[in-house]
Amino acid sequence: MENRGKVRIGIPRVLNIYTYAPLFNAYFESLGVQPENIIYSDYTSSELYRAGASRGAIDPCFPAKIGISHVYNLIQEKHRKKPLNAIFFPMYDVLHSPLVKLQGSNACPTVTATPETVKAAFTKENDVFADNNLKYIDPVLNFADRKLFAFQMLQALQPILGLSDEENERAVEVGFDALKNYETSIRRRAREVMDQLEREDRIGIVMLGRPYHHDPGLNHEILDEFQKLGYPIFSQNTLPLDEDMLERLFGEEVRAGAISSPLDIGDAWKNSYSCSTNHKVWAAKFTARHPNLVALEISSFKCGHDAPIYGVIEGIIEQSGTPYFCFKDLDENKPTGSIRIRVETIDYFLRRYREEVIRKRKAAEDIEAQLAALEAQLKRERGLGSDAESEMPAFANEAQGEIQEMAAD
Ligand code: SF4
Repeated sequence: MENRGKVRIGIPRVLNIYTYAPLFNAYFESLGVQPENIIYSDYTSSELYRAGASRGAIDPCFPAKIGISHVYNLIQEKHRKKPLNAIFFPMYDVLHSPLVKLQGSNACPTVTATPETVKAAFTKENDVFADNNLKYIDPVLNFADRKLFAFQMLQALQPILGLSDEENERAVEVGFDALKNYETSIRRRAREVMDQLEREDRIGIVMLGRPYHHDPGLNHEILDEFQKLGYPIFSQNTLPLDEDMLERLFGEEVRAGAISSPLDIGDAWKNSYSCSTNHKVWAAKFTARHPNLVALEISSFKCGHDAPIYGVIEGIIEQSGTPYFCFKDLDENKPTGSIRIRVETIDYFLRRYREEVIRKRKAAEDIEAQLAALEAQLKRERGLGSDAESEMPAFANEAQGEIQEMAAD
C-alpha cells in the first residue's frame, strides 16, 4: 500500500460520474487522498474521442463509446505527465432517487457494463494497465443500499488504500453527506432561479436527458448556446423539491387520488425500472406544470432506454400546452450549422412564447382587478362589510367563477 497522501487516482469523466463525483471526491479525500491527486480525464471533445476511439471493438451509443477514449486520455495524458496508481471506473448498478413507488432504480445496462468493455479494449492484445504499472478498479456499486455499497467499496479499494472496515464506513458516510449537500445546494439555486423567472416573466429550459448529457462534448454545446441567449438550464436530477412548489404543481392531483405523492410517476409511467428514465418522466411532469419552464429533450443515437419513452415525454409536455423541443440521435458527429439554426429557431419561438406568457399574466391580473372592483361595488351597493362574502348574491359568485375560468385559459 502506498502512503495515501501520495496515491493518485484517475477517474474517467463519463456516465454517472456527472452525478456521483461529489460522493467519490469526499470519500477519497476523507481517507487522506489529496484533492489534487484525484484526476479526472478531460471533458469530451472530438480530439479526445478520436485519440482513443480506434481501440473500440463494439459500437454502442456515444456516451458509452467515449469510455475508451477517456481511459486512453488518463493513460496517455495524465499518467504520462505524472504517474497514476489506479484508474477507478465504477460499474453503476442501482442508483439513488427521491421518487416513490418505483419498480426499480437501475442504471442502464450499457452504463453498468461499460467499464468491463473498456477493460477488454485495453487488455485484449496486451495488458496496457499492467504495462503502465496501473491498477484498473471497476467495482459494481449499489447506491441505494448503503451497507452493500460500503462492502463493494471496501473490496475494491482495500488493496490500494489499505482500509479498515471502520475507516471505509466513515468515508462512505462522508461521501453520501457530500452528495446530499451538493444536491441540496443545486436544488436551492434552481429554486432561486425559478422564482426569479416568475418575477421577471422569463423562460427557463429543463434539460430532459441523462446526467452525462450535461457534458458539452456529448450535447455538442447545445445547452451552452441556449445559456448564451439568456435561458437558464435546469437539470432533470436536481429540480427543487420544496413542499410549497410540489404542492403548487401536484397538490390537486394528489388530493384527487391520481397520484399517491408529488414524487409518484405511476400515472404516467408504469415500467419504472430505469432511474434516469424515471427522473426524465418526473421532470417532464414538473416542467409541464410550471408556467415559466419549457422542456428540451436530449438523447443519444442507439439509446435503447429513450426510444420507448419518446411518446410518453412528448405526450406529458404537449398535454399541458407547453412547448416541447428535442435533439435526438446525437452521436460523435457535430452538425454545428444545423444545431445553430435550430437553436435560433427555438429562441425565436420562445421569445414569442414569452410574450404570450406575459400577455396571459397581465390578462389574469386585469381580471383579478376587475373582480375585486366588482365585489367592492356590490358590497357598497348592499351596504355589506368586508367579511360579508358569504352574503354575496348568487349571480356575483357565478360571475366570479366565470372570470376565474377565463383567467385560467
Ligand atoms: S441510457 Fe441510452 S445513452 Fe445512456 S448508456 Fe444507456 S443506451 Fe446509452
